[in-house]
This record gives sequence, C-alpha cells and structure tokens, in this order.
Amino acid sequence: MRTETVDVVIVGARCAGSAAAVPLARAGHRVVVVDKARFPSDTMSTHVLVPNGVQELAFMGALPGILKLNPARSHYLTLQDGDLEVRERFRRFSGIDYAICVPRDQQDAVLVEAARAAGAEVRERTHVEDVLREDGRVVGVRCRDRDGQYEVRASLIVGADGRRSRMAAAVGAWTPYRASRNGRGFVFRYLDDPLGPDAPDALQIFRAEGDQVLVLPSCPVGRTLVVNMTAAEAVPAYRRGVEGEWARMIDRNPALKARIDGATNLSSLRSTTDLSSYYRRSSGPGWALAGDAGHFKDPVTGNGMRDAMKFGRLLGEAAAASLHDPVELDAALLAWEAARDADTISTYHWGNRESRPGPTSPLVREVLRTFAGDDRPNLSDTFNRARPVEAVINPARLTRGLVRALRAPGADRHAIWRELRVELPMEIGLRRHRLIDGFRSTRPVATERAGWSIGDGEPRAVSPQDQPV
Ligand SMILES: Cc1cc2nc3c(=O)[nH]c(=O)nc-3n(C[C@H](O)[C@H](O)[C@H](O)COP(=O)(O)OP(=O)(O)OC[C@H]3O[C@@H](n4cnc5c(N)ncnc54)[C@H](O)[C@@H]3O)c2cc1C
Repeated sequence: MRTETVDVVIVGARCAGSAAAVPLARAGHRVVVVDKARFPSDTMSTHVLVPNGVQELAFMGALPGILKLNPARSHYLTLQDGDLEVRERFRRFSGIDYAICVPRDQQDAVLVEAARAAGAEVRERTHVEDVLREDGRVVGVRCRDRDGQYEVRASLIVGADGRRSRMAAAVGAWTPYRASRNGRGFVFRYLDDPLGPDAPDALQIFRAEGDQVLVLPSCPVGRTLVVNMTAAEAVPAYRRGVEGEWARMIDRNPALKARIDGATNLSSLRSTTDLSSYYRRSSGPGWALAGDAGHFKDPVTGNGMRDAMKFGRLLGEAAAASLHDPVELDAALLAWEAARDADTISTYHWGNRESRPGPTSPLVREVLRTFAGDDRPNLSDTFNRARPVEAVINPARLTRGLVRALRAPGADRHAIWRELRVELPMEIGLRRHRLIDGFRSTRPVATERAGWSIGDGEPRAVSPQDQPV
C-alpha cells in the first residue's frame, strides 16, 4: 500500500478542520486535510454566526472571501413574544459588530480555500477508514480515494469529522461520557425577504405558543432563512403536510406573520430532530477530536460553528508549538480539551435547558422583560459569548423576574413555585459543574435528560485488539 508521511492529518475540512489547519500550516508544518465531500457541499445547519463567531472567520483569513458573497450584516438581536419586546445591538469583537448567516455550501467552500491559502493541502473526495496505531499511539490514517487505499503517517491526527465521527469510533471515544436528549426539532427554509431593502437590520426571534421562530437575513442580501425551533413531536406534521403546517405556524404568530407573510421563492423545507448534545473524550496519544466530533449542543445557542472554529484554531496553535515532542504534544492536547470544556459548559447547559420547548411561562416572560427597554448588549451576550450564560441571566435578574411574576394580577403562584422547583436544581447543578466538578466529570446535572441518541451505532466497531487509545 502507498504510504506517505506528513506532520499533521486533519479529517474533515469544514469549520473545525479548516480552522485547525490554518495555524499549523502558517507555522510551516506540512498539513494534509482530507474530506469525503467535494466542495461546494451542503450540510445540515442553520449557520448563523454572531460577532464572536464572525471574528473566527477573520482569524483564519476567510472573512474577505465570505464578505465577497454579499451576506446581510445584522447589527441587532430582537425578541418578540406577545407584548414583550427586546432589541439589542450586538457587542463588538475584534472590531466586528455584525452577525451573518451564510449557507454552508457557500461558507465552507471559502473555509477550504482559506486552509489552502495558509499552505495546507486539502484532498476532497477522500474517505478516512481507520487510524494506524503503534505502541498505544495513533500514528496515521488509512484513506481511500478514487485510486484506492493509502496510508498517511503523521505526528498528530485530528478528527474534525462531525457528529458521526469515524475518528471518535476508531480511537474508542464514540460513546459520550455525558449527553442529553433534546426535546426540540428544527424546521427551516429560505425565502426572498418580502420587506426587501426595508428588512430590519436584525436577527429576529418570534416566540408564540411553543414555537420559537428565527428570521435570519442570509446571503446574498435579500435572501432570508426562517427557522422554527419547535417541539420534536411537532416535526412529523411538517414532513407530512409541508405548506399547510407552515401556514398554520405563521397564522398563530401575528408578529411573524407581519414580518414574512407573502414571501416568495420559498425553498423546500428541511427538518431534523437528531439533536442530542454530548461531550466525548477528545484527546489521547497522538489524536484529538475537534468541533462536533468531540462536543455538540442544541443549535438554539447558535454557537456550534463558533466553538468548532475557535477550538479548531486553538488546537492548531497548541499543536504547532509542541509537535516535535510526543509527550509535550499529548499534554498540550489534554490542556486544550480542558480549555474547550471550561469555555463551552455554560452554553451546553443553556442549550439543554432550552431544549424543553413550550409556551413561554409567566416566570420566563418576566425574566426576559428585565432585558427590555435598553438596546445595549446584554441578553445577546448569551449568544455572543461575552460572559457565561449564568452571569447574564444571573440570580439578581432571576429574583427580579420572580417577584414581578408573583405580583402580576391573576398570577398562578402555585405554577410559578412549581416551575422554580424544577429550575433551581438546574441553576445549582450547572454552576457546580462549571466551578467544582472538574474536567471530564460524569456527575449528572439536572439540565441533562436521559434517552439521548447519537445515531444508529458506531460507524466502526472497535475490536478487542483495538483497545481505546
Ligand atoms: C439543525 C442544525 C442547525 C445548526 N445551526 C447552527 C447555527 O445556526 N449556528 C452555528 O454556529 N452552528 C449551528 N449548528 C451546528 C454546526 O452546524 C456545527 O457545530 C458545525 O458544523 C461543526 O463543524 P465541524 O467542522 O465540527 O463538523 P461538520 O460541519 O460536521 O464537518 C465534518 C466534515 O467531516 C467530513 N467527514 C466525515 N467523516 C469523514 C471521513 N470518514 N473521511 C473524510 N471526511 C469525513 C464531512 O464530509 C464533513 O465535511 C447547527 C447544527 C444543526 C444540526
């Protein structure tokens, strides 16, 4: 079999893979990125990036290429739920004060070009079938392309191959050490914005009767993505009766109706309920799992690509400095994984809490109302990752919301206390996880729900000879 040797192999060329390749290639290492896709290639995603995520595109040199696609740039976040309205300008990161929402076939092709421009070799239509091991260490991969099988050996193998990660299975890390079922499903389609040039300069959230609908100015300007993040049980109805169910969704949400009624050039509807969140063990001797391969959370947080790119970049930077020494490299990979977890735990639990869709409760409504009337960044810091979520929706704010909800005329106080009894253990548990439980803790947190699933099973069974590495 053909064999070649490089410095780093990265499996997967989208967010995590391209972001990891750039610093390694810029440091002069020989980096081969393989992907079974041929770009441009689409993937299941609603692909919004707020400023904290857009800056990652800038760091990897992809932002100029993305802006050439003429995406809408949204400077505000708005939330509307009956009489409740919140409107905030996004906090700025690295001089970037806007969100974008570029379809993945367009976006990811630019990421691949950024990796190439940095000096990485990207091989499309190439499948990685397995890892090569020596003395308990991962030392390469076995690939297959149109010309057959070959092996590539390297000091570091990065699995950036998404949720169904073959790399995770191959290194014995397929089964998450913590995970949570998602009660939410996503239903979405593109349309021509009926408001044309008068469309608001905002990512908009419209909540009504258990629906949480996003209206996301997309790419090119004038094209808009509409996403209903609804109960998973509601999704089959959309699949059975597409247009009827879509029309009913608009009808029960008057503010949404005013925003998108009469839109034309509707794309077909896409949907998924395959959204369990998880953490996998993400580093070991000679290997690391970046992006969704190692960690996934409810996309309601709009942070998957940001985290994949940020921790792809940080993985590349850490490895670039320690590639020469296996002991140093493995220590750097472990430290990288711990830093990723510390940065993502709040958002993971927030996503888990949000994955119980339902009508807005009086308590939640009053907590949200504490953000109304001031357009400076605050609630939007949750999506924008300026602070941990529990520092934004903090105890003082929760108490204010609780007092207002209890004092409201006609308040059902029993229902409010019942809700509080469910929410309090989550509040305590997620703080405990972030501050006390420690790295790779398996201690359950009340936000997590049993019954999670990450697919039909490992894409490749680990044989007894192939012990986890
Ligand atoms: C419904 C939905 C909506 C979402 N909305 C948002 C959002 O609005 N904002 C946001 O930031 N995030 C969102 N996300 C999350 C986001 O899509 C992911 O976090 C992101 O795509 C992760 O990037 P990645 O590079 O880790 O993996 P992926 O994007 O999954 O890329 C993995 C790559 O690996 C390749 N690959 C896989 N196996 C192999 C193999 N054996 N050999 C070679 N190549 C292989 C694949 O071809 C693919 O190109 C959403 C996700 C879903 C499911």
